Amino acid sequence: MTMIREIEELFKQQVRVWPQLVKGIEGLTQAKTRRVRIDWFDIFIRHIPHRVGSTTAAVDRKSIAKRPCFLCAENLPPEEEGMRFGEDFTIYCNPFPIVDHHLTIVHREHGLQHIASRFGNMLDLAAALPGYFVTYNGPECGASAPDHMHFQAGLRGLLPIEQETAGLTGITVPNYGRNVFLLRGRDRAVLIHRMDRAIELLAGTIGKRPEPMINIAVFYERGTWAAYLFPRKKHRPEVFHRGELTVSPASIDLCGIFVVPLAQDFERITGDAIAAIFREITLPDDQFREVAERLESEL
Ligand SMILES: [Zn+2]
Repeated sequence: MTMIREIEELFKQQVRVWPQLVKGIEGLTQAKTRRVRIDWFDIFIRHIPHRVGSTTAAVDRKSIAKRPCFLCAENLPPEEEGMRFGEDFTIYCNPFPIVDHHLTIVHREHGLQHIASRFGNMLDLAAALPGYFVTYNGPECGASAPDHMHFQAGLRGLLPIEQETAGLTGITVPNYGRNVFLLRGRDRAVLIHRMDRAIELLAGTIGKRPEPMINIAVFYERGTWAAYLFPRKKHRPEVFHRGELTVSPASIDLCGIFVVPLAQDFERITGDAIAAIFREITLPDDQFREVAERLESEL
């Protein structure tokens, strides 16, 4: 059985026994979506009330230390079951979906969210799931469990970034309103090496611990991977801290599905506001160009 079939089976089984998941899937079917066009690209703004917990999650060290980890197997609801992926991971249905077939892929052991040495797992996951995206949110870039290594995945039907970057061969996407590196290739080892190098260069520029602030999304189709690396300057935008908009962009938002849990925000948020948020939270142009030039010169 292919993994996609196994995931279908997992959803069927989990929907039968796990009311929270049913509620999440129903919530998603009621989600309203509004499209805004910014320059030459689309953003789908999605009003998903059940995402409010993730959007506003306290992810500072103190709050994290105080709560039981919701990704550790012993703390999962009794109905929640997963399927193995490789040596180290278990795939679960995400009860707070943003897209159809939203999955959380969780490391079996409790340990920091950290991409080094794990990007290969991400590529393998994407290769097993054509038609899906696989994302990684850095510990200060949208992961609501920064203390437990995990990825997310889901059907990528709506994600505009794939169409918008189709045919681009460079490692950057010009005039895209958010700075993103695009690494494509058919060779797993080469891609891992390039990603490691990009992260290393970003660490020199952003200088963050234990890794530079990043989001990653990976797609796989017909033997080729496309990996999008978003270097970040900031976790949450000022409008969040000022209480003006309840938004906390992570990989999926940067790929073009912008989640707003509150109805009033859904009504009033504009494409310009989203463009400003993207500029504010991703790496500024000059620093981005510097890293891009170094990376290009090494290709
Ligand atoms: Zn844990």
